Amino acid sequence: MLAPQTIETVKATAPAIQANAAAIGNRFYEMLFEKAPELRNMFNQTNQETGVQPEALAYSVYQAGANIDRLKELRPTIERIAEKHRALDVRPEHYGLVGETLLEAVEEVLGDAATPEILDAWGEAYHALADIFIQKEAVKYEEVEAARGGWTGYRPFYVAEKVPESDVITSFYLKPQDGEAIIPQQPGQYLTLQADIEGEPYTHMRHYSLSDAPNENYYRISVKREDPENGNPAGIVSNYLHRDVNEGDVLLFAAPAGEFVIETEEMPIVLISGGVGITPMMSMLNTLVQEDTKRNVTFIHAADSSKVHAMKARVEQLADTYSNIEAYTCYSAPTENDRTHRMFDKEGFIDADWLETVLPEEQADFYFCGPIPFMKVVNEILKDRGVPAERRHYEVFGPESTIE
Ligand code: FAD
Repeated sequence: MLAPQTIETVKATAPAIQANAAAIGNRFYEMLFEKAPELRNMFNQTNQETGVQPEALAYSVYQAGANIDRLKELRPTIERIAEKHRALDVRPEHYGLVGETLLEAVEEVLGDAATPEILDAWGEAYHALADIFIQKEAVKYEEVEAARGGWTGYRPFYVAEKVPESDVITSFYLKPQDGEAIIPQQPGQYLTLQADIEGEPYTHMRHYSLSDAPNENYYRISVKREDPENGNPAGIVSNYLHRDVNEGDVLLFAAPAGEFVIETEEMPIVLISGGVGITPMMSMLNTLVQEDTKRNVTFIHAADSSKVHAMKARVEQLADTYSNIEAYTCYSAPTENDRTHRMFDKEGFIDADWLETVLPEEQADFYFCGPIPFMKVVNEILKDRGVPAERRHYEVFGPESTIE
């Protein structure tokens, strides 16, 4: 338990951390990688370069400080981060160095404002939180180790099939090289790839949502090729997978992780995706079908056009076969052929007026995934519609951040 004075000091100084988030985050990672260069293999180096990761880290520190007396409210965030840590093989011994370096970064950036009293209070708060993570992660490691077909660390899988799904998305069917069982994922969970790419100075870790229903034979991930755009370089791992990885090749993956999973209530369910955000939605849709669900399912997908619309035929087939499944498509840049054959239900971006025409009238559970601006819009529309937070579930395809 933290002393009341410690809690007060941490809460009072959290805004200063927020105001200096980028500087603290940048300095933290610089110092961390100086002390332990091998940790570059564990952190996404592109997110370092773009500054996304340093800001996300400092934001999390601020959030933790501002809510240090209401940790219950942080529970979903703590669960999500602990799942990522387990997938990235974060271990108790990492916490000491991270905590020490974080305090050094805060001290350096805040200068004289970071008095010994303030630094001590943040140190205590960090250790209290670190203990929570270490305990949670220990349970997760144990669970995944003990489960039939489960494993810790990284397990070799060979690519059994490589299947293009659109001009930019390709699926990889993965089977364990050891031929043993695999733990079925919960629909919505992701695998974490540890990619050792020739010519790259570091190992690259990337998360990929599983895109098919759980089963005991294979996992499927579906990856969008991130092309160079607006002067930014091509995505490292997605291009490696599309270009260099072929059937028979072996890749290393951590066991399925993630908290973005279907909850069991028997009410209508709405799955909304943008672009490659379709992957966890397909896993959920295929699972609902596999379980012969009686729930009404509304599947809404937004893409530029049919050229980049993955898994279209499968969704259409399910909507044609099952009377309780409805599917709708929004294209923001339809081709002439899309127009001629009326391949979409709405032209342009998803908006409130159109959603109103396709959403179920009764209460529903909402799951959504896509680019951050897309999810912000969807979230706002659902909030305006009165959908409570516990029925709005979403996954961010990037470092921990909020869309609220
Ligand atoms: P990176 O090299 O990481 O680059 C990412 C982007 O940054 C690129 O667009 C690149 O152009 C740009 N960039 C690079 N350098 C700079 C720079 N200096 N300045 C500005 N911009 C720059 N992806 C999928 O395709 N399918 C999935 O199912 C999927 N599921 C995910 C699930 C989760 C839980 C998470 C967190 C992510 C998921 N992702 C998924 C995203 C995936 O993990 C990768 O982030 C994605 O494949 C891009 O990785 P990359 O190595 O190709 O690109």
